[in-house]
Amino acid sequence: MTDHTADLKAFLDASPVNFLAVEELRRRLDAAGFSELNPADTWTICPGDRRYVCANGSAIFAFIAGDAPAHTGVRIISAHSDSPCFRVKPHCEMVCDGDIVKLNTEVYGGPILYTWFDRPLSLAGRAILRGDHPLRPRHRTVCFRRPMLVIPHLAIHFNRAVNDGNHLSRQKDMLPVLGHVASAADAKGLIHRLVAAELEADPADVLDFDLSLYTVEGASTVGLNNEFISSGRLDDLSMVHAALTALLASDGCGATRIMAIFDNEETGSGTKQGAASPVLQQLLRRLCAALGGTDEDYYRCVADSFMVSADNAHGVHPNYTEKYDPTNHPVLGGGPVIKINANCKYMTDADSAAVFATVCERAGVPVQRFVNHSDVAGGSTLGNILTSQIPLRGVDMGAAVWAMHSARETASSADHNYTIRAFTEFYNC
Ligand code: ZN
Repeated sequence: MTDHTADLKAFLDASPVNFLAVEELRRRLDAAGFSELNPADTWTICPGDRRYVCANGSAIFAFIAGDAPAHTGVRIISAHSDSPCFRVKPHCEMVCDGDIVKLNTEVYGGPILYTWFDRPLSLAGRAILRGDHPLRPRHRTVCFRRPMLVIPHLAIHFNRAVNDGNHLSRQKDMLPVLGHVASAADAKGLIHRLVAAELEADPADVLDFDLSLYTVEGASTVGLNNEFISSGRLDDLSMVHAALTALLASDGCGATRIMAIFDNEETGSGTKQGAASPVLQQLLRRLCAALGGTDEDYYRCVADSFMVSADNAHGVHPNYTEKYDPTNHPVLGGGPVIKINANCKYMTDADSAAVFATVCERAGVPVQRFVNHSDVAGGSTLGNILTSQIPLRGVDMGAAVWAMHSARETASSADHNYTIRAFTEFYNC
């Protein structure tokens, strides 16, 4: 079995935030012979074409066109580009004693807050630069790459009860320290000037930016036999990497193969580049039309399609087995996990679970099932949100991880390889 762990680590390190993840995906797709489609153009697509379309620079939809979609449906693997983090607020510089500057930030999604303390941090995202027309500014990704910030924890001597449970304020406790300035006046607009310098742009041309904190320590393997992967953003970039690797490795079966990477899953998917928007539905309609299909063909295509909604699952934590369902214990290393919920927070049903389990069987990959302990609420993900736009058959699944939404999560190398094999088989069948 090919080991994809090293390539996953490289992908994670190249993708500190959503915008950079999409840029890395574009780079890899370009290298594999894909070319970009502009949503504002008329699309001409032929069977076999390798194309992708971006939304907001933070979501990306790549496909290899098959034969007329009405006859074969499409095979979709979806995942998300975003991870919980901290976004820099406007007018973010705050000057403290000794002319030390800290940054005002806002929490994005649901990070485990205290895992962000005392780590080397940096900033990445995108900048918006003045363009030729007020409605069309230019977009550039920004990534400082070097350790620039730290969120120092309060010493235990000021709070002896810190290990007995310690409430954290997002506005007071979580602000990162950037460094010294010569005088308080130098702090005003400092991040703006740093972004301009990083991009070698005139500060007057930098109109705005989306910047987030990320942890600069790279992904690594850990464990007696290097069986685990430790990194930030495994949720959901490990599934993004698996979808991409499978798309590029697959030969297909005549059906169009789609990789749909949405943004803003961590905040409920309610943006134009999120799964609650019609972005995937429009892609399918336009693809169908460009391949010569009618409206009727689009409906036939949807009826004959299948989606794998890939988002990480919870592996049984060795210290907390009581938190998990008594009879379903997905473990790290036990294969991809099908996620099931009686109240339909996941799109999985017996039909789609059976389909995915059969795909895994054909790929020679073990498969596991996750349901919540009935007294624990659990989470939700992309699948169900997408079915409110398109009535697709599909399964919610993911690789098992520990510490979901920690600044560093832990997954299994074997599971990653299994997932890629299962996804490749899915695209081929
Ligand atoms: Zn996720």
